[in-house]
Amino acid sequence: MSLKLHNTYSHKIEELKPSNSDGVIRMYCCGPTVYNYAHIGNLRTYVFEDVLRRTIKRAGFPLTHVMNVTDVGHLTSDADEGDDKMLLAAEREKKSVLDIARKYEDIFFQHEKALNIERPDIVCRATDHVQDMIKFVEKLEEKGFAYFSNGNVYFDTAKFPAYGNLSGQNRKDLMHGARVETDANKRNPSDFVLWFTSSKFKDQILQWDSKWGRGYPGWHIECSAMSMKYLGEHLDIHCGGVDHIAVHHENEIAQSEAYLSHKWCQMWLHGEFLQMKNDVKMSKSKGNFITLDTLIEKGYNPLAYRYLILTSHYRSPLIFSYENLDAAAQALNNLKAKYAELSNDKDAVYSTDDEAKLQNYLQEFDAHLFNDLHTPQAMALVWKVVKDKDFPASLKLKFLDNVDMIFALDMNVPAVEKNCERALDDEILKLIEERKVARLAKNWAKSDEIRDLLLAKGVVVKDMPGNEVEISFK
Ligand code: AMP
Ligand code: ZN
Repeated sequence: MSLKLHNTYSHKIEELKPSNSDGVIRMYCCGPTVYNYAHIGNLRTYVFEDVLRRTIKRAGFPLTHVMNVTDVGHLTSDADEGDDKMLLAAEREKKSVLDIARKYEDIFFQHEKALNIERPDIVCRATDHVQDMIKFVEKLEEKGFAYFSNGNVYFDTAKFPAYGNLSGQNRKDLMHGARVETDANKRNPSDFVLWFTSSKFKDQILQWDSKWGRGYPGWHIECSAMSMKYLGEHLDIHCGGVDHIAVHHENEIAQSEAYLSHKWCQMWLHGEFLQMKNDVKMSKSKGNFITLDTLIEKGYNPLAYRYLILTSHYRSPLIFSYENLDAAAQALNNLKAKYAELSNDKDAVYSTDDEAKLQNYLQEFDAHLFNDLHTPQAMALVWKVVKDKDFPASLKLKFLDNVDMIFALDMNVPAVEKNCERALDDEILKLIEERKVARLAKNWAKSDEIRDLLLAKGVVVKDMPGNEVEISFK
């Protein structure tokens, strides 16, 4: 069965075919900018990439999967405007830039682990590859694609006629759409910085020597330099969230193909955004976001969030709400309960017809996945199989074990105490807040009254130092 995926570049569903003669699929995914927690929106993209990774392997391809960690150079705008994200975070937390980077990188991988996201084969940090980036920019300059202007090195997008093909915008549109903070040093508004020396970030702590002067790389160059270092000149798949299409990935294509003088990447896959119910955008730089820890603190199993992600197709927006998450948590618990029930069913006798049915079900599961990762349809099949009255328990278990190699929901691990899966709904959160206010005002009668009310709703509050409370469920 062939694996078909949607290519943003061609707008078509295409069959995945290795571009290198060794048959290995080379995949590069843009990784986190480690100046803050990854929010659950970011994590949706990494779950999509994890499903893709597992599916590629299931389709029988050897795979090398590379992901970068951006610990220098990413400004608050994806273009070359705004503040340096790492510097802002260091000031905010009174830590060094590198301490910030390592702290949030560690937390990122803890969150990935909690979501059963497999670690890419190679994880590479931007700060460890600055010499590769400098060499890359030198070659672009030699080939006439880069120019030096007032201390910075820029990519000249006018020299790359295909600029804008990925997002379907031509350079003129991009110019009109460009953000207002124009950089007078650029020849064209869509040009972008490859190397900064003279900029508003005179106090940039991380700096390296280069032929253009001491400075640091622009954000986009790291992905081209590191992907080529580890994956060579012909990339099969490049992934990221949809926000990367218009600027970051256009820029990656321009600089990589200018460098190579040939086509670079076969397929571009982009994950749609996780949105909040009331259409509020989750933004790391604005600080209004939900992290996986928020969900864990509220008593959710992180894999309930993975389940929720799997119920929508990666190219459709997913609306996040606690109601949706509650439903996913419930469904996951039901699935775990089914798995446990089937394991206790001793009936291991089945016919060759049953075995053939298992093969058909597995093929159907693969067909959904190989059809551009259609996880919602695959999930619907899972429930159909579980509910099939004419299918033996032992084969249902075999089916579920196969499914979990992709879904990675730990179906075989019994659900934790049901109450721990419960969310704090708005009403309860409001009562907890009211009680905090009452305690600050030393209104003990009111505080006790609210505590009893919460207890009646099954929520136990324990007072902790600093007017904090620990919540558990009856
Ligand atoms: P960043 O750390 O900001 O560079 O983003 C990490 C990844 O998350 C990138 O692939 C982004 O495209 C993706 N991303 C950012 N916001 C969202 C969102 N709300 N939903 C899904 N993916 C997102
Ligand atoms: Zn990238």
